Amino acid sequence: MPSGGQTTVIQRILERRAGQAPTSTEETTASIAVMLRVVPPPKALIACLDSVLRQQLERGITADTLDYVSVADEADALRAFLLEFRPVVLTDSLDMVRKLRARSQERPPFIVYFSELDDVAEREAGLTAGADECVGRRASPREIEARIGSARRIAELETVLRITLAENRKLSATDDLTRVASRRFFSKNFPREVERAARYGRGLSLVLCDIDFFKALNDTHGHAGGDQVLRQFAMRLQHNLRRGTDWVARIGGEEFAIVLPETAYDQGLEVARKLRDAVGTEPYRYDGTSITVTASFGLCGLNRVPSGERHLAQRVLKIADAALYGSKHGGRNRVTATKFGGDR
Ligand code: GH3
Ligand code: MG
Ligand code: MG
Repeated sequence: MPSGGQTTVIQRILERRAGQAPTSTEETTASIAVMLRVVPPPKALIACLDSVLRQQLERGITADTLDYVSVADEADALRAFLLEFRPVVLTDSLDMVRKLRARSQERPPFIVYFSELDDVAEREAGLTAGADECVGRRASPREIEARIGSARRIAELETVLRITLAENRKLSATDDLTRVASRRFFSKNFPREVERAARYGRGLSLVLCDIDFFKALNDTHGHAGGDQVLRQFAMRLQHNLRRGTDWVARIGGEEFAIVLPETAYDQGLEVARKLRDAVGTEPYRYDGTSITVTASFGLCGLNRVPSGERHLAQRVLKIADAALYGSKHGGRNRVTATKFGGDR
């Protein structure tokens, strides 16, 4: 099973055994510090009806603090915000605070509300309306600068978090949606499997499969329906394989690779046929409806080849892909198979 977590644990044990302090904390802090330094200043929206305050903010905020647009009119401000998300909003309008909160559930901005009097009731009203921070209009320029600084810091940290999450996803050994192995895991480990099989003269089969007319399925049942089918599809593949030996990877949107170690061409063909039945016989369930799905398969069985052959994995992949293409053109919902290497 691919598992990024396991690597980390093993790494930690090895480090402890070697008597070295783990380096991960420092690495994390260093990379966050570097990222914070290099992210561009957050985009901001100044939506102030009070022209004195507006001009004060415009004068006080430098281009390397916030990349702002400043709007006097409320409707214009809302339009600008909806057109382009801005993680920091500075406003003196309670109404604006409310409207922005109502419209940004998925990704909320950090809202600083500038109150008229800076009394308890006003601050409470601002926070209740959805502001993250309340500042009196007559606060000193230094205080205003400090408050804007913390808004900026939160926006920057959120950006860094988003970048990190996206990168983690890319580096992950597991596919987020289906929990089978990721494309990354496949690219790294399939060549190793091929190399091993070739070196020891063992069997190996690669099955590629691609769901038929998946675009139409998305169009009919929505993207969420498509995702649900992908999850169930991957699960069916997984459940019909030998545990601990065979493995599945999602290598494209609706394309999967199934690696069958110790499996010669003839057995590989049997497995591919079994998988075709497993994914294409029973309908899939989504939101109370049942969805019929089929998939096309391409198999390449690696029969004995000398281990010295170059780019063997790539060639096996290419042959399986051509076989899959053959299944698509032959009418879909079928298995096409090719032997690689012959019976030497
Ligand atoms: P064919 O039988 O020739 O394979 O046709 P197809 O419609 O399956 O193939 P095509 O490559 O035209 O479309 C694949 C579709 O898969 C398009 C894309 O929007 C969808 N898709 C890719 N990744 C995902 C995903 O993660 N979730 C969902 N729901 N759809 C996805
Ligand atoms: Mg397809
Ligand atoms: Mg495809």
